[in-house]
Amino acid sequence: MVSMANPAILTVDDDPAVSRAVARDVRRRYGDRYRVVRAESGDSALEALREIKLRGEQVAVMLADYRMPHMNGIQFLEQAMEFFPLARRVLLTAYADTDAAIDAINLVDLDHYLLKPWNPPEEKLYPVVDALLDAWLATPDTSIQETRVIGHKWSAPSFAVRDFLARNLVPYRWLLADDPEAARLLAAAGLSEGDVPVVVTPDGKSLVKPTEADLAAHVGLSTTPASEFYDVAVVGAGPAGLGAAVYGASEGLRTVLVEQRATGGQAGQSSRIENYLGFPNGVSGAQLTDRARRQALRFGAELLTTREVIGLEGGGTTSRLLRFGDGTAIAAHTVVLATGVSYRRLDAPGLDELTGRGVFYGSASTEAPSCADQDVYIVGGANSAGQAAVYFSHYARRVHILVRGDDLSRSMSHYLIDQIKDVPNIEVHPRTTVVGGEGTDHLERITLCDGRTGATRTVETYWLFVFIGAEPRTDWLGDAIARDRHGFVLTGPDLLAEGRRPAGWALPRDPYHLESSMPGVFAAGDVRSDSVKRVASAVGEGAMAVSLIHRYLEAQ
Ligand SMILES: Cc1cc2nc3c(=O)[nH]c(=O)nc-3n(C[C@H](O)[C@H](O)[C@H](O)COP(=O)(O)OP(=O)(O)OC[C@H]3O[C@@H](n4cnc5c(N)ncnc54)[C@H](O)[C@@H]3O)c2cc1C
Repeated sequence: MVSMANPAILTVDDDPAVSRAVARDVRRRYGDRYRVVRAESGDSALEALREIKLRGEQVAVMLADYRMPHMNGIQFLEQAMEFFPLARRVLLTAYADTDAAIDAINLVDLDHYLLKPWNPPEEKLYPVVDALLDAWLATPDTSIQETRVIGHKWSAPSFAVRDFLARNLVPYRWLLADDPEAARLLAAAGLSEGDVPVVVTPDGKSLVKPTEADLAAHVGLSTTPASEFYDVAVVGAGPAGLGAAVYGASEGLRTVLVEQRATGGQAGQSSRIENYLGFPNGVSGAQLTDRARRQALRFGAELLTTREVIGLEGGGTTSRLLRFGDGTAIAAHTVVLATGVSYRRLDAPGLDELTGRGVFYGSASTEAPSCADQDVYIVGGANSAGQAAVYFSHYARRVHILVRGDDLSRSMSHYLIDQIKDVPNIEVHPRTTVVGGEGTDHLERITLCDGRTGATRTVETYWLFVFIGAEPRTDWLGDAIARDRHGFVLTGPDLLAEGRRPAGWALPRDPYHLESSMPGVFAAGDVRSDSVKRVASAVGEGAMAVSLIHRYLEAQ
């Protein structure tokens, strides 16, 4: 069932005269192709968006006045993005507010700010809206048709499907299996509730309990390499891999970026990265990932999703071979290992069985709205846990941070500790660990242990989010690549034990700075031994790996 309504252009201004004037000007030019929706407050505009979303329709552009009482234009746009992340965003400002508008460029990924008055619209308004509509139409995800996911609330497979789509920035509509629309869709496909999760793709195909590879193939993510040979093959599409892909492709190297799950890596899960250069108000991991991915693709990098690399071979003197799980392989002159790290699992009885059904690793932001008015527990004392706590505090009744240590000061950045202090519904529980979890269908309670006294207590909760450090998953490299005792890849000077080059190193030079023990294979980001675990350093190392690759290729 595909909606045939025209996409909307939404305008919101608290001054009725201005509100009418914007809507009139917009309608005059675009009324034949777009539905103009007018609101006079942030709240009523959000209500309108909610309805449009429920009807399965689209919003192309949102124009919001900055100075509105109760909810200003930036606050409105920030919330509006939750409904329509791809809609283009314009802030209407007075000259005096241009600073706020500039800040909003980062905060809400603002596309444009428009000074009032915008007369004549032919000169000041239409060129802006024309360009934004072109950009909106050119974004492949803005198809009017959409992906729908039908599943059960407490189901690990349903969560896995939603998490995969969300992390790959594929918009979808989530329908509970007992929702009448879901029932209609299932009946139309000859399926029943027992078949969920079911994904209905934009072209009307129903995928029953799909694997990630099935999903990727049907929602427009590329899974098959277009070529057999590349200049650079980058393994892992977190910030380091995306950085390497952007620089590699922009500098004319035939570049393929291979990702086992979703672009963005750990950073893609961050609700707000506050310390990345150039974003004074922070940027969400999803926004940063979306921009980086588009940038890499624009420069001609090829991106393969749901392809796990399981083997690396020397291949020959000038090529390296990467093997995939299905037995196929690609070759490249050079490789960048950017596989980052993965969350450590929490080892307590009962939790494994409840993973995806109340117990989540990482922030699982898709779940946030479901936590409304409930108590949420977050395990971990590092920045990732702190960010998640702040994020969930907007939805949950109370967020409890459980930390093993005496306080957060040793593990969390000061700016986050300060932020947390200011949020009344976040409570930090020092010296507290989770020693068990229980529930029939889903998590219902956890047992906490006081580290000083050893006393345990049980609390009722449906939500446990775990952030307890991470480890590299580099076993697949076998003996091919030297690693430190924790599994991180050794590079450059770290490979020179007492000045001696690594075993089997045949070149008459030392390994370059980010080069591993196999010539032409570089490591960047969190997977590298002793690297700084930050987005900026990962991106920087990705870029630096490319410059070393040029040096390597020139010497071949
Ligand atoms: C919730 C959270 C919040 C954070 N907040 C901040 C912050 O505010 N500021 C900051 O500077 N840092 C932050 N960090 C840390 C930052 O995200 C990491 O340092 C950064 O993402 C590391 O980038 P990376 O590319 O090296 O690795 P990752 O981001 O870990 O990406 C590695 C990618 O490789 C893929 N991969 C792994 N193995 C394979 C394989 N065999 N085949 C194919 N693909 C593979 C993975 O699926 C993953 O997508 C945060 C981390 C988390 C988890």
